[in-house]
Amino acid sequence: MLHRKLMTSNPKQVWVLGPVIVGAGPSGLATAACLKEKGVPSLILEKESCIASAWKLRTYERLKLHLPRQFCQLPLMAFPPDFPTYPTKQEFISYLEAYAKHFEIEPLFRTEVRNAKFDTNIGFWRIGAGESEFICRWLIVATGENAEAMLPELIGLLDYRGQVLHTSCYRRGDDFRGKKVLVVGCGNSGMEVCLDLCASDAQASIVVRDKLHILPREILGISTFGISMWLLKWFPIKMVDGFLLFCTRAMLGDTAKYGLKRPKLGPLELKMTSGKTPVLDVGTLNKIKRGKIKVVPEINRFTEKGAEFVDGSKGVFDSVIFATGYRSNVSTWLKEGDFFNEKDGNPRNPFPNSWKGTNGLYAVGFTRRGLMGTSMDAHRIAEDISSQWNFKNQPLHFSSRY
Ligand SMILES: Cc1cc2nc3c(=O)[nH]c(=O)nc-3n(C[C@H](O)[C@H](O)[C@H](O)COP(=O)(O)OP(=O)(O)OC[C@H]3O[C@@H](n4cnc5c(N)ncnc54)[C@H](O)[C@@H]3O)c2cc1C
Repeated sequence: MLHRKLMTSNPKQVWVLGPVIVGAGPSGLATAACLKEKGVPSLILEKESCIASAWKLRTYERLKLHLPRQFCQLPLMAFPPDFPTYPTKQEFISYLEAYAKHFEIEPLFRTEVRNAKFDTNIGFWRIGAGESEFICRWLIVATGENAEAMLPELIGLLDYRGQVLHTSCYRRGDDFRGKKVLVVGCGNSGMEVCLDLCASDAQASIVVRDKLHILPREILGISTFGISMWLLKWFPIKMVDGFLLFCTRAMLGDTAKYGLKRPKLGPLELKMTSGKTPVLDVGTLNKIKRGKIKVVPEINRFTEKGAEFVDGSKGVFDSVIFATGYRSNVSTWLKEGDFFNEKDGNPRNPFPNSWKGTNGLYAVGFTRRGLMGTSMDAHRIAEDISSQWNFKNQPLHFSSRY
């Protein structure tokens, strides 16, 4: 293991030969694997006690990959051939376990990075984690776009007496059997949680505040995402959006009739400009059409027993589930304001320039393009670091300082 080979002078100060990667999710694992393939050792620091903690500890049981398998596999190792088009959460986790084993990636678990700063005097990063300070030439941020659950501040929420949780704590619909549940947020997670609740005979209502694009997950048996990627190679984005909306209208009908109005910008253009991901429908819309899931407007305020909505209607709910997304945690620990935006903890430069900062700082998995973006970042970072690594193995020059 890399950290056994480290040069330690002070027991709390650890010099790392290669890059330090923060986070052992798919992005951290992919980057470690690409580096290894190029002969560069790395050390992953992970705050939880396992790899892929977001998938193992913060997702619901029935979750499947939203995108087809070919867009979700990590670099250098394909999914097993018997995996379905949309692997389940368990299958994806088993793939990641096999991936870490295959590339002999052994993160340092229960090691939360609390701060990281570039020391201009020595030209190295100082990373405070656990009881130690790790010192390295390259720092790779792989803590994810979804590091922390986001909960909106809503009037009266503290007065509400029912159960309140975020989708990251939701596991299965059975826990809500027979209950009235308000799901706040209509992205992919909110929509899927409603479907899961419905399957367990819970009465789900979903708050739809903004306009949104719902697309069928597949068009004529081919993944909508795959078709979009292919068409974008040949046609301008507006034309592809036009095609997607034409097919969607033919397959799903006019969603506005059910309270789901579409934005003016097409689904792909909206994703490119604002990062807003279209919902890929896996059956929720049908339940909405049949009245099994109720669409309600924006919440005005919570009451003791439920919520009042902006149109004046009211509802009584046993539970409220916030499907209001996640945010990056980078600005809480990385002391750097050039490459990462201090406000939202994401790289300032959008894709494809979101992977490389200055002073040996890198970011993987901040492209808003899911695991496909992760793979691109991982390759680029490994290429970039290995060219420096092969040029001169710099860290050894500094060992005499300590
Ligand atoms: C419900 C859901 C479904 C998704 N489905 C798909 C899909 O089908 N296809 C797709 O391409 N994308 C999908 N995504 C998006 C994205 O690909 C995943 O979120 C993926 O897990 C991102 O990987 P990551 O490694 O960048 O981040 P994460 O998986 O979040 O991993 C980050 C790791 O960093 C650790 N960490 C955080 N802070 C610190 C710290 N300070 N110190 C040490 N460790 C730290 C965390 O514990 C975690 O293990 C989905 C996302 C969600 C939420």
